[in-house]
Amino acid sequence: MLLSNGLTGAMRARRGYLDALIALESGDAGRAAQLLPDVLQRLRNDDQPRPLIDALDVQARAYRALGQWRAALDAREEQIRLRSQLDQRMQREQARVLAAELALSRETADKLRLLRQTDAQRLQLQAAQREQRLRLIAIALLALLLAAMAGLLLLTRHRLRGARYDAMTDSLTGVVSRRYLLNHLARMLSDRRAAAYPLSVLAIDIDHFKQINDRFGHAVGDEVLRRVTEACRRALRETDEFGRMGGEEFMAVLRRTSLAHAEQLGKRLCEVVAALTMDDVAPDLRATISIGVAEAAANDEGADRLLLRADAALYDAKRSGRHCVRVAPMQ
Ligand code: GH3
Ligand code: MG
Ligand code: MG
Repeated sequence: MLLSNGLTGAMRARRGYLDALIALESGDAGRAAQLLPDVLQRLRNDDQPRPLIDALDVQARAYRALGQWRAALDAREEQIRLRSQLDQRMQREQARVLAAELALSRETADKLRLLRQTDAQRLQLQAAQREQRLRLIAIALLALLLAAMAGLLLLTRHRLRGARYDAMTDSLTGVVSRRYLLNHLARMLSDRRAAAYPLSVLAIDIDHFKQINDRFGHAVGDEVLRRVTEACRRALRETDEFGRMGGEEFMAVLRRTSLAHAEQLGKRLCEVVAALTMDDVAPDLRATISIGVAEAAANDEGADRLLLRADAALYDAKRSGRHCVRVAPMQ
């Protein structure tokens, strides 16, 4: 209801204004001046500055036509005042719009900054994740490399050990090799120099081994080598080192053993080997050994001289008919 009244009031004011304007244009200033106060009042009540300014213009012109200068001036003054108010209002409005736009652009800028910040943070996070991934890959590769290197090292050590074992062990009989025996003897001799205890060696050779080979074959010869080895090893003590020097020749290094004691051990070996029955290998297969014994004499006697003396004693045993022990005279 209020709205329809308001609309009606505005329409009335508009019509009144147009009637007044027509009256003025058609030379009836009196009618115009008569219509306008009501129009102006309505417009003032409705706070319609622009139509009010127009209406005041018509009123000023009507009063001027009627010669009412004072009233015309009042209308003009109100018109000017209203216009300036309107200008101010518009300026304020513009300022408000500008401020709002400014606030909006600030807000947009803030949002953009925030967006850029989160974008930068996201990029940073991605970079950190990538770096972490790379670090993990590098660690995994390093671990793999280390594992491979460790594996290689173990393999090399294993092979080296195998090679050393091969070099130090006689493959046919399983006892230590010539190389090991010579090293061992050298070590024992230098030990003995410090501790001053007797040390003897046995040079052992199978008698007529060539004949065994010729009569029974090389494979049987090999088996005889193994059986003689086993018998000697069993007959010797824990502290004795027994090995194959090559062919059908062996050597025993007897620690803390005098020449006389070594001779006894040699004789025992001769008996043990001669007692070996190897019928399971070949019928009537028998073997004997000859032994040369020598004891390291002076503190400075080297392995070469000691072995030469043992060999000489062995040669002596062979010449004496084999299957016996001969002793190298003490130096
Ligand atoms: P002696 O009583 O003077 O020692 O005579 P022998 O026949 O034992 O000595 P000789 O040096 O004449 O012969 C040794 C033989 O040993 C010759 C060689 O063929 C043989 N022989 C060397 N090494 C091996 C081997 O590993 N296996 C076999 N079956 N025979 C070997
Ligand atoms: Mg020989
Ligand atoms: Mg021989």
